[in-house]
Amino acid sequence: MYKNLQIPRRPYQSEEHQMVQDAVDQFIKNEALPNYEKWEKEKMIPKSFWRQMGTQGFLCMDVPDTYGGGGCDFTFSALILERLRYAGIDFGVAVHSDIVAPYILNYGTEDQKQRYLTRMAQGTMIGAIGMTEPSVGSDLKALKTTAQDRGDHYLINGSKTFITNGYVCDFVVAACRTNTGTPQEGISLIIIDADIDGFTKGHPFDKIGARAQDTCELFFEDVRVAKSNLLGEEGKGFAYMMNELPRERLGIAIEAIASTAGVLDATLAYVTERRAFNKALYEFQNTQFKLADCAAELQVYQSYLDHCIELQSAHKLTPTQGAIAKLKATEMYGKVVDECLQLHGGYGFIWEYAVARSYAASRVTRIYGGTSEIMKLIISRALFKDAYMADKK
Ligand SMILES: Cc1cc2nc3c(=O)[nH]c(=O)nc-3n(C[C@H](O)[C@H](O)[C@H](O)COP(=O)(O)OP(=O)(O)OC[C@H]3O[C@@H](n4cnc5c(N)ncnc54)[C@H](O)[C@@H]3O)c2cc1C
Repeated sequence: MYKNLQIPRRPYQSEEHQMVQDAVDQFIKNEALPNYEKWEKEKMIPKSFWRQMGTQGFLCMDVPDTYGGGGCDFTFSALILERLRYAGIDFGVAVHSDIVAPYILNYGTEDQKQRYLTRMAQGTMIGAIGMTEPSVGSDLKALKTTAQDRGDHYLINGSKTFITNGYVCDFVVAACRTNTGTPQEGISLIIIDADIDGFTKGHPFDKIGARAQDTCELFFEDVRVAKSNLLGEEGKGFAYMMNELPRERLGIAIEAIASTAGVLDATLAYVTERRAFNKALYEFQNTQFKLADCAAELQVYQSYLDHCIELQSAHKLTPTQGAIAKLKATEMYGKVVDECLQLHGGYGFIWEYAVARSYAASRVTRIYGGTSEIMKLIISRALFKDAYMADKK
């Protein structure tokens, strides 16, 4: 699975996984790595690459083939995320294939599935998810974008920010306030097509890392969206988000662990080549111990992650497990990439080195998809719930 790291065979890994992995690796080598620097400068990955991904069958792998998807289980979706991140490619495929597609598949009407999923799998339509707003992030219940009922359509006003794929997206699944019930009862998910009047996009943000992945603001000014674009039932949006967030968080954990493996592999190679005081860097006990520690941690977290990937494949991943996976994987990634950068010396600070890019990219994994503090809130809520139930017996 990984080059220099002695990671045992993953529990669910089959010959088919190996074949897909080889094909994805070859595709990344030929089509992504030679262009990545250009994409970073342009602050986005071009739509042509999305179409190539679709043609290869690397998008929406666990969407049923009746809707144009790969018809595989989640382990194959996980594999795509892993291989991209292992190679250092930050690309909004998780948002597209593993967040937006499941919303449509799980809550969409037959017409919505036909309209969006097939084209998403082909890469001819790119999806984004709009929850965060300029004044609301962690406290989702407080979101302010409104969708007023105007008979046959909703009138949408408001804005979203930090939206991955925001600039290249063809549509966004936006969380909007549809009524004045309790804060969570008032939220609905609405599919807003990018070419509709009143929907505008900001320029991609200048981020400190993951620079090729476009992230921007979206603005809605008197946008009239047909009622048929409501996803699922009105007022259920908050519940849907709570159902889908564990998978989103697992995706971030998968990317964090694969990025860690990528950076560790690159560092093992670097310390074998680089010399100081007439020795290769790996001959210093400090180097060996630091990397031994990092590799041991990676393997421990990889095992928990594999357990969660199998749970997600069986649609059994709980919110607490999703939160634990994200919290621990992203914190480990931050710690390991920092150690690896140190072992690169000055070269670790230079952008052309993979470790420098990974160091910058790692930081946001503890923020998006819910911050580390919010993950701790979710985990501790479950702990106290158990204690409360035990007290009652
Ligand atoms: C590159 C990038 C891509 C993103 N992609 C998307 C996307 O595609 N779609 C989308 O909807 N959003 C996206 N986001 C937004 C992201 O999910 C939010 O930034 C994140 O949820 C945090 O919200 P916030 O930035 O408003 O921070 P805030 O909620 O303002 O939090 C600020 C600080 O306060 C802490 N805090 C808040 N509440 C509590 C609490 N109750 N207890 C303890 N501490 C607390 C937080 O942990 C954090 O440290 C993206 C963000 C980035 C940077």
